Order: sequence, then structure tokens, then C-alpha cells
Amino acid sequence: GAPANSLATEPVVNPVQEDYIPFLETVKEESTLSIVVVGASGDLARRKIFPALFALFNEDRLPENFTIFGYARSIMTDEELRNMISKTLTCRVDKRENCNEKMDEFLKRCFYHSGQYSSEEHFLELDNKLKGKEAGRLSNRLFYLAIPPNMFVDVARCAKHRASSENGWTRVIVEKPFGRDTESSRELTRGLKQYLSEDQIFRIDHHLGEELVENLLVLRFSNLVFQPLWSRNYIRNVQLIFSEDFGTEGRGRYFDNYGIIRDIMQNHLLQILALFAMDTPVSLDAEDIRNEKVKVLRSVKPVQLEDVVIGQYKGDCDGNTSYPSYTDDMTVSNNSLTPTFAAATLFINNAQWDGVPFLMIAGKALHSKRTEIRVQFRHVPGNLYNHKSGTDLHNATNELVIRIQPDEAIYLKINNKVPGLGMRLDRSELNLLYKARYPREISDAYERLLIDAIEGERRLFIRSDELDAAWQVLTPLLNELEEKKVAPELYTYGSGGPVGVHYLAAQHNIRWG
Ligand code: NDP
Repeated sequence: GAPANSLATEPVVNPVQEDYIPFLETVKEESTLSIVVVGASGDLARRKIFPALFALFNEDRLPENFTIFGYARSIMTDEELRNMISKTLTCRVDKRENCNEKMDEFLKRCFYHSGQYSSEEHFLELDNKLKGKEAGRLSNRLFYLAIPPNMFVDVARCAKHRASSENGWTRVIVEKPFGRDTESSRELTRGLKQYLSEDQIFRIDHHLGEELVENLLVLRFSNLVFQPLWSRNYIRNVQLIFSEDFGTEGRGRYFDNYGIIRDIMQNHLLQILALFAMDTPVSLDAEDIRNEKVKVLRSVKPVQLEDVVIGQYKGDCDGNTSYPSYTDDMTVSNNSLTPTFAAATLFINNAQWDGVPFLMIAGKALHSKRTEIRVQFRHVPGNLYNHKSGTDLHNATNELVIRIQPDEAIYLKINNKVPGLGMRLDRSELNLLYKARYPREISDAYERLLIDAIEGERRLFIRSDELDAAWQVLTPLLNELEEKKVAPELYTYGSGGPVGVHYLAAQHNIRWG
């Protein structure tokens, strides 16, 4: 059930025993790992999960005895599954010479079983096949649910009753969306907990597997220079930005039902905010970190309508290229009010962050693709250089930018003297560009998260009380937007978003440039 020191509010229904097997370490070579990708015929499985599993295998990170099973309703042979996934595997990690051999070896370990998601009988057939590969050894089983969430509970039930491991652990990774609001998310949690304990559920938010998100705690807690600055005393505002330079492009069916606030803000951006603003955890243990995240999320004031700007992209024509409107997407209704852009100012009600605006911006079809955290510091009190003639630097405050993607980087904007006689100041940067400093290619987020799930490391997965706290920040706003049928402000495809965002930023004294 929920760990003793957690702030979990959810009672655990019918808990299953914790999956820690103390003798596991000693019998490692005798144990087997079966990974079942449920929804193996889908986009996520093909594009992300199988390639990540191969990359881990290629780097010798998977256990000695492992088998991968694809499971979905589509009819396919093992060979057809192998053909399908072989097209998406790449040798990018280390470009090892024997990569093609490794690929063949990997594909030989991949199998397929066709079945319904709610059929215990079909999962029993899968169980028999798994047992055949496990050959009586200690068996651990990892299920990855790459299917629409309305099937999660059915699969959890079938897996628990017919395909969970008898002598090792069984873990289940679930993909977002975890509900549409507080109520539906609680219902999903209750549904899953009928069959699985909290320790067996790994709620994945792949952005938490990104290198610079992982690095956020290292930056904060192992650098003396940042520690004393990390509060309302020195930080003026924080911006969390997620922008994509493409629209839904014919894949709007899922999106139109959720919108950008649920799709990006409720999970990715609130998760980053929690890691950014949480108090120092007792240790790096997953439960200690997650306890602090829950605490800070519970201190965030529910977002008010007046602190929000929503937008939807409209088409544009640029020479010979034309860009569609959101509602041109055939999978989206013509009068959809779903926001493809949102900016919201959040406040944290605690001593460390009181009054500091956290501006979250998320949007599709904008002018650039990037995810970043921008931290603007306060003005230097009594700045001697404020009125220096010939400079226009009186407002140049320090800014720390953590660019999560693309082109991972951390840079700090500082004021610096331009070399030479006289006194001219310049805005310069202390720049840590990952490409230059760490030439090795950065692993995909899914690789890190998969290996963590295999190793039972829960730090980067979202606990149910954390999920609940995050929904409580946004659910009242989502309800109000829907009840009042608030129309999004239109913005041009490829632009910087709706004009309203500048007013919102100005209200909180946030300047760009
Ligand atoms: P798909 O729509 O490709 O669905 C995956 C598989 O599920 C399909 O191949 C299909 O398999 C089965 N399926 C689809 N619709 C239904 C249905 N209505 N009822 C029962 N089974 C269905 O989804 P994705 O692979 O894109 O995503 C899987 C999950 O991951 C979703 O929850 C999605 O929200 C989430 N996700 C996806 C991301 C992505 O990049 N694609 C990113 C983040 C999250 P079959 O018919 O063979 O049974």
C-alpha cells in the first residue's frame, strides 16, 4: 500500500503485497524479465517503446534473461511484429559496429500475442506463453499500457488475475492522460487500485525522463551558489514554457477532447514547477522526493480565470506555403473551443514563494519548438551602474535559463564590462551548452524511465496523491472555462501566440528580451 511517510489521502482498496523480493539480488542470473507492451500495434509502442527497449539492450542495460511480448487486438505473427518494429530501431547509441547483429538478437527476443483487452482468457493464453519463456525461473513482469486510458482498468484486472508473476514482481506502467479532472482521475486511481497496489503502478510522464529535468535537483541541491537565491527574496518571476512549432496535423481527435491545459500544463509543466519549487527532500529516496512535490503542489493556489489567457491557432499563408487552422483538422469539430495555447500565472502560498508569479505557457503551432525554464532575478538594490550614461542596462536583471529541449543548455545572463578603455556594460552569458560539454548523445527519456521501472526506482513516476494535488490546481479553472464556454483568442499559426499573453505578463512585471 501507500508508504507510511506519504501524504496519500486515497485509501488503498484491496492492496496487493509490496513487490520487493529480498532474495532477488542473490538469484539475479536465475531470474527472468518479461516485458509486455500492451497496445503493441500503436504509435507510441512503435515510435518510442520498442526503440527505447532496443537502445537499452544495445547498451547492455537489460537483464540477461528477458523476453518482450507485444499484445494487442490486431492479428499479427511474431515475424510481422518483428518486421514492424525493425523499421523504427536505430543504432544511434555509440554507433556500435555490431549493431545489426544486436538488432537481430533483440528481435529474436520479441514475440506477439493477439487478444482483447478485457479478456481474462486471452491473458491466460499470454501467461502460458510467458511461462514457456520463463522456464520455471524467478519471473518478473512489466506491463506497459500503451493503449487508450479507458482500457487501463480492464487490463489491470486481466493481468492481475491471469498474468501476474507468481514468484517475482509485477509492475504496470500507465501513460497519460490520467483522467480529465480531479474526479475522473480519482476514479481511474480507484479502478487501478482494485487490482494493483500503489507500488506496482508506474504513472509515466516522459518529460520527467529528460536529462535537464533530472538535472534540476542536482543544479538546485548540489550548488551552493544557487541555494540561497532560490526564493522570493531574489527571484522575481519564473516562466515555464512549452512550445511546439506544429499543430495537430490530422491527429486532433485525442487532443480536442483534452486541450492544452490538460495535455501539457496539468502534467509536464506542473511537474517541472514542483521540482523547481519544492523544499529540500530528506533524501534522494523516491518517497522523500515525492513527499516534497506533493507538499508544494498542495500549496499552489487553484488557478483563477483572470490569471489565464487561452488561444487557438488560425491558418496562415506564407508565399506558397499555407498553414491550417486548428479547426481545419478533419478530426476536430468546426466550432471547437478547445485551447491549443494557454498561459497561466500561478502562485505558491508558502513562505519561500509568496507573491512570486510562475508563468506557465504552453502552445501548439507557435514560432519555435522549445521547452525551457526562465528564472528572472530581482534588480540589484542601489545599482551603481543604473544611471551610467551610454548604457541601456538599468533594467537588465540576471536571468537563468534552463533549456530542456532542443539543444540542452543552462545559461546565466550577467552584466559584464566590455573590454577596453572606458566603462561600457554588456549583457553577456555564462553558457553551459550540453552539445559542446558532453558530446555523447543524450538518451531518450523513455530509456531512462523504462530502466527505472525495471529497477524499481520510482523517483520519476507520479504517485497518486501527487496526481491528485496537480488536478486540484487546475480543475476549477477547467470547469469554469467549460461552463462559461470561454472562447479562445485566435493567433496565427507560427506566431508567438495570442496578444493577450503580453498583457498577462505585463500585469506581473514580466519582460522578455
Ligand atoms: P494509439 O491510438 O496508436 O493506440 C494504441 C493501440 O491501442 C492501437 O494500436 C490499438 O491496438 C489500440 N486501440 C486504439 N483505440 C482503441 C480503442 N478505442 N479501444 C481499444 N483499443 C484501442 O495510441 P498511441 O500508441 O498513440 O498511445 C497509447 C497511449 O499512450 C494513449 O493513452 C496515449 O494517450 C498515450 N500517449 C501517447 C503518446 C504518443 O506519442 N503517441 C505520447 C504520450 C502519451 P489494436 O487495435 O491492435 O488493439
